[in-house]
Amino acid sequence: MNKRITSTTLYEQALDVIVGGVNSPSRSFKAVGGGAPVFMKKAEGAYFYDEDGNRYIDYLAAFGPVILGHAHPAVTQAIQETAIDGILYGAPTSKEVEFATMLRDAIPSMEQIRFVNSGTEAVMTTIRLTRAYTGRNKILKFAGCYHGHSDLVLVAAGSGPSTLGIPDSAGIPTSISQEVITVPYNDIPALKGALAKWGDQIAGVLVEPLVGNFGIVPPAPQFLEQVNELVHQAGGLVIYDEVITAFRFHYGGIQNLYGVEPDLTALGKIIGGGLPIGAYGGRRDIMDKVAPMGPMYQAGTMAGNPLSISAGIACIRELSKEGTYQQLDEMGARLEEGIRSSADKHGVQIMLNRFGGALTVYFTDQEVFDYDTAQTSDSEQFGKFFRLMLEQGIYLAASKYEAWFLTTAHTDQDIAETLKAVDISFSKMESHK
Ligand code: PMP
Repeated sequence: MNKRITSTTLYEQALDVIVGGVNSPSRSFKAVGGGAPVFMKKAEGAYFYDEDGNRYIDYLAAFGPVILGHAHPAVTQAIQETAIDGILYGAPTSKEVEFATMLRDAIPSMEQIRFVNSGTEAVMTTIRLTRAYTGRNKILKFAGCYHGHSDLVLVAAGSGPSTLGIPDSAGIPTSISQEVITVPYNDIPALKGALAKWGDQIAGVLVEPLVGNFGIVPPAPQFLEQVNELVHQAGGLVIYDEVITAFRFHYGGIQNLYGVEPDLTALGKIIGGGLPIGAYGGRRDIMDKVAPMGPMYQAGTMAGNPLSISAGIACIRELSKEGTYQQLDEMGARLEEGIRSSADKHGVQIMLNRFGGALTVYFTDQEVFDYDTAQTSDSEQFGKFFRLMLEQGIYLAASKYEAWFLTTAHTDQDIAETLKAVDISFSKMESHK
């Protein structure tokens, strides 16, 4: 591995002109002991190439979207061909109709759809829509779940029993955070308690139907069914945030896998094939409230732009091919097995949560089923592991809460190389205990 001299120089320059040197905080290495992040020059298939000539096997997948691997020919070709005919119109195009139809065919609860530019926008708008539809103001979310960075959902990503929200960010008025109620994930008694207290004021309940933001945490049996039943009984609407999960585990959403349908769904990440996108949609009678049909305003200069839509169509079409998700699941199983056996061999205490081609390694002895248990993962141990893997050319997200994402570009050889690096990392962690 070459020394990352260029990365360090670029980081110093970046610190002067870009706040924190990065354009999203999750790209910084702050959570793993600080220092210069790796500046990338190129990415192809399952690999990253940095500015100093090092190659990495990538398990970040750009925090989810890059499920086909980097620069997939079907996606890059769609972008190139579309760009020649114009980059942005501000007028409707046939491709938007084609793509909305593809998405609705895959996720039928999205009877009507609107494209936006990010997951943040998609979720933010579904919240406004639940308020417009119900005439109520409060929102309930589950502790530790991330739903983008709009004011309402940056509240109470912390833990604790059904509390009124405490903002996780400066700059959020208490008048807003007071409208958000938080309960632990997978905790139906806590949800019942919150609904008993505030049920007649709650417009919408925001759910990651499978959590991707404090690691991979599946819903407990019957959790999704009970959420639907209880929230509907209280007269509120259920929003699924499938920004991470849609098309990650299945051709469609987690809602299709579990057979439970929300009233509204927010999408992002994978559906743009790597370009900026978001989408929201749901029941027709609710979507009727959106301008120009109804009184709830939402708009976007870049929304439904031809490049994102074409990249999205190309990506989703690739994912519809037979065997895609089986391949991701099989690779995930192989990684899981190898990581577990190395941890056993070297006496490193881990908990591993996996769902299909995504997994999280927690450095804890507790089973992880909510944010409190995810937080028990040892940050220092994770930091050590992250650095050891990076030095062996394996690129993981720089946070103990993030998933490893497999792509269809990863090969058996990549998995074998990764497992060798895991084994060496765990052996070094053991010797430093
Ligand atoms: N919801 C979930 C579940 C997410 O994981 C994210 C992004 N990590 C968002 C919403 C926000 O999406 P974006 O970054 O595109 O605004």
